[in-house]
Amino acid sequence: MRVILMGPPGAGKGTQADLLINKLGILHISTGDMFRKALKEKTSLGLEAKKYMDAGELVPDNVTVGIVKERLAEPDCKKGFLLDGFPRTIPQADALENTIKELGAGLDKVINIAVDRDVLVQRLTGRRVCKECGATYHVMFNPPKAKDVCDDCGGGLYQRSDDTVETVNNRLLVYEEQTAPLIDYYRKKDLLLEVNGDQEVEQVTNDILRALGRVKA
Ligand code: ADP
Ligand code: ADP
Ligand code: ZN
Repeated sequence: MRVILMGPPGAGKGTQADLLINKLGILHISTGDMFRKALKEKTSLGLEAKKYMDAGELVPDNVTVGIVKERLAEPDCKKGFLLDGFPRTIPQADALENTIKELGAGLDKVINIAVDRDVLVQRLTGRRVCKECGATYHVMFNPPKAKDVCDDCGGGLYQRSDDTVETVNNRLLVYEEQTAPLIDYYRKKDLLLEVNGDQEVEQVTNDILRALGRVKA
C-alpha cells in the first residue's frame, strides 16, 4: 500500500503515522524527519535545509524531490510506504507521480487530516519531541509521565526551534498558499479521503483505518 498523509503543520501526521505503520506493515517516510536527521549529522543537505526550516519556509522542490526519489528507490520501499509531509507543493506532487510510475506502481490513497487554525497553533507551540527516538508529546494534550522525559526510551524532550509562535504563523501561511491546493489536486484524481483531525488520537486513527477500508464501519 502506498499512501500520503496530508494536513497542515500540527494536524497530527507524525503521531498518526507512528500508529498506522505497525497496523499497515508499511514504511514511514517523513521529509521533515529526513531533514532534521541530516541537520543533526551536519551534512550539506542538513545545513542547506536549516535555512528554510528556521524561517518556516519550504526547502526548494529540487532538493526535496531529490531525497524522496532516492529513498523510494530503495528496496525496502517495495512493501509500501506512508508519506508524511511530502508532497507539499504541486510540482512535488507531479514529480511523485512520475517517480511512482517509474517504479511500476501507483498511489493508493491520500488522507487529508483537517484541523482548525487555532487548534494547530496550540498543538505546535506545546509540542515536545524525544531527542533519542523522535516520539512526539504535547505539554497539555499528551504529556509524558515524567516531565521532559520520554515514556518510551527515557530520552530527554526538546522543543523544535520552528515551533515558536512567529515561525508557526509563517508555516501556516506557507501551508495555505503552497500546500492546501493539493487537496483539490488529489480530489480531482479521486484519491482523496478526508478525516477530522480534531478528535482524540485513537478516534482519528480509527477514522483513517476505516477510510482505507482496513476496519469495518
Ligand atoms: P504534524 O506531524 O502534523 O506536524 P504532530 O503529530 O507532531 O503533527 O502533532 C502536533 C502536536 O499535537 C504534538 O504535540 C502532538 O502530541 C499533538 N497531537 C497530535 N494529535 C493530536 C490529537 N488528536 N489531539 C490532541 N493533540 C494531538
Ligand atoms: P510539520 O510539523 O510542520 O508538518 P515537518 O517536520 O513535516 O513539519 O517539516 C518541517 C520543515 O521541514 C518544514 O517547515 C520545511 O521547512 C521542511 N520540509 C519538510 N517537508 C518538506 C517538503 N515536502 N517540501 C519542502 N520543505 C519541507
Ligand atoms: Zn524516546
